[in-house]
Amino acid sequence: MEGFGLPARGRLGYTGRHERAPRPCLSSMSSIVHIIGAGMAGLACATELVGRGGRRVVLHEAAVQAGGRCRSYHDDVLGRMIDNGNHLILGANPALFHYLDTIGARARLTCPAAAIFPFVDLRTGERWTVRPNRGRLPWWIFAPSRRIPGTIWSDYLSGLRLAFAPKSATVASALRGARRPIVERLFEPLTVAVLNTSIEEGAAALLWPVMRLTFGAGEAACRPYFARQGLGPDLVQPGIAYLKSQGAEVRLGVRLRRLEFDQNSVRALDFGNDNFALGQDDYLVLAVPPSVAADLVPGLKAPLETRAIVNAHYLLNEPVTLPEDSGLLGVVGGTAQWIFARGHVVSVTVSAADALAERSADDIAALIWTDVAIALDRRNEPMPPHRVVKEKRATFAQTPAMLGLRAPTQGHHANLLFAGDWTDTGLPATIEGAVHSGQKAARHLLSRPRPH
Ligand SMILES: Cc1cc2nc3c(=O)[nH]c(=O)nc-3n(C[C@H](O)[C@H](O)[C@H](O)COP(=O)(O)OP(=O)(O)OC[C@H]3O[C@@H](n4cnc5c(N)ncnc54)[C@H](O)[C@@H]3O)c2cc1C
Repeated sequence: MEGFGLPARGRLGYTGRHERAPRPCLSSMSSIVHIIGAGMAGLACATELVGRGGRRVVLHEAAVQAGGRCRSYHDDVLGRMIDNGNHLILGANPALFHYLDTIGARARLTCPAAAIFPFVDLRTGERWTVRPNRGRLPWWIFAPSRRIPGTIWSDYLSGLRLAFAPKSATVASALRGARRPIVERLFEPLTVAVLNTSIEEGAAALLWPVMRLTFGAGEAACRPYFARQGLGPDLVQPGIAYLKSQGAEVRLGVRLRRLEFDQNSVRALDFGNDNFALGQDDYLVLAVPPSVAADLVPGLKAPLETRAIVNAHYLLNEPVTLPEDSGLLGVVGGTAQWIFARGHVVSVTVSAADALAERSADDIAALIWTDVAIALDRRNEPMPPHRVVKEKRATFAQTPAMLGLRAPTQGHHANLLFAGDWTDTGLPATIEGAVHSGQKAARHLLSRPRPH
């Protein structure tokens, strides 16, 4: 409890197990916002709140590092820093760019000169590049050189059906009757990448906002952005540094075990070794995954079904450049789905990968390398050193049924807010969704009357 304005005991009569002498009254003038979880949602909430509205921010994180599902670590096999998984960021991610501007880290992202998406079909060997044009009018669909082989311009209009699909519709059901090439080569890879759920199960209502905000907004919105050094160094650590510079308290390696409630508010937080009583102006933001939130808050409905993402990283002998310097390569007709490259490391993502994640890491590495060898024209090369990362609960299953279980920012308890990619943002479970949820919770708090 180092660094807190008031000791655990004394606020609401709750007795912390570790008693401390009361601190001077300076910070007793301010309210404290406790944020649980230093993933992107918690970081975004904290950076939005810190130093504003007379509130002090304390960020508590169970792991010894921040970042949650968006993190980097040093890998011994590859001998370098890698991300737990490739994270595609798009020009149409305003919440994330706002977060980066707040912490002064926008320049840590890099992007190609234009939004170009090269693809390869492993079954036929065909290669093509999708090139959305500048401006809102999508004339690229009329240019055969910019669109997908086997498609005609009217195929792309079938995407509009997502806009009018009922809440219960899946992407596949909304697109029923659309021609195969456009489904297999555009809508299916897009659904799996964005929703981490198969096209047969993924919610049409959740894919539509992404289509509208990217392809519906022109080239700049579709442009992919990449962390230059990695998710940790570029998105997470600058956020933590900013918070500390603004006087926020960041506690790593502390797991919230239990909440104590009175009738309509949270009274205290139990971390096992220390406890915090909440004063009348204090707030709690739970920015933890849905399963954790559901355990902590009795009766909370949350989307608990999950889908896996598997990433395979390969260390090559030389730096790798992908076609057209695009930074990524889409793959259809194999196990691999998206290939990314950073320096000597080629990283491959497979989303909606629950079945794949059940296989051994060696099997997965070999299976994916077969695809990479074809896609990058390295057929005769032996499989290089590799690391497979399985994230079995990468996101919630973004099906129509699960959408109805997303929690609102404000729940039933007056001083308890929720953030996280699984809350009801109207966006898919992505970095953008997570950051948006954190900023939404912060705005919610800032709109409340100033503390006493
Ligand atoms: C492999 C992979 C690839 C992905 N690819 C993309 C992509 O390409 N583009 C994209 O935009 N998104 C992608 N995502 C999704 C994105 O990473 C998540 O949507 C986002 O990071 C979720 O952030 P969050 O803050 O909501 O949750 P989390 O990151 O899960 O953060 C929750 C935090 O709470 C902490 N916590 C849990 N329980 C407790 C407790 N009791 N006490 C204290 N702390 C606790 C956790 O340790 C964690 O740090 C990917 C995810 C994965 C796993």
